[in-house]
Amino acid sequence: MGMVVTIDGPAASGKSTVSRELAARLGWQWVSTGAFYRGLAYAAIELQIDLDDVKALAELTHNPVWQIKLDASRTKVFFKDEDVTDKIAHEDVGNYASKVSHYPEVRKALLDAQRNCANGPKGLVAEGRDCGTVVFPNAEAKVFLTASSEHRAARRAAELGLDQDDMVKAQKQRDHQDSTRKVAPMAAPQDALMLDSTELNLNEVVDRVYDFVKGKI
Ligand code: C5P
Repeated sequence: MGMVVTIDGPAASGKSTVSRELAARLGWQWVSTGAFYRGLAYAAIELQIDLDDVKALAELTHNPVWQIKLDASRTKVFFKDEDVTDKIAHEDVGNYASKVSHYPEVRKALLDAQRNCANGPKGLVAEGRDCGTVVFPNAEAKVFLTASSEHRAARRAAELGLDQDDMVKAQKQRDHQDSTRKVAPMAAPQDALMLDSTELNLNEVVDRVYDFVKGKI
């Protein structure tokens, strides 16, 4: 396995943008592990699989009907050979993803595929909720990115063209589900750099993360 940097944090904390920029500066790959949960949830809905049917969901994790492809600009999801990356970005798919991500069987079944992203010739920046705690516990550097809930909701509402108050509610519910679940809850790794991006612009966040990572690798 090559070198790994993990960036975890709540919904819309800027993880994807920061990870992408960081990976570009380092010349590494990046992966959004949330795409695995979003892709699985999307495929389950398209195939009319009950989101409480754990056995069917666990089986679906290995079904080639949906696939993840790493890319410098986005972690892409394909369903039946169609690029559905835009579709899985919707907040309702995020919510379904949060539901399927509760199940230990599902998390376990996705783990190898997530870890395999680090097997390429370059290093990997991995972002999600449990990248530093469960997926890559031995990562060279770990970051936990936060921002105020209003700031996060405003950011995502603007991205998706949705109402900000609705977004605050949806994200609060999702963050609550993600941080209180029994298995691999969203958590800051002990040795992580804790960064609140509320008062910082993107460049400032990336600069700080980059300096931190450079000090570790
Ligand atoms: O990061 P993103 O919003 O794409 O993640 C969608 C959902 O996938 C999260 O709300 C969470 O429930 C789940 N997830 C997870 N573990 C990860 C990444 C995402 O449980 N490492």
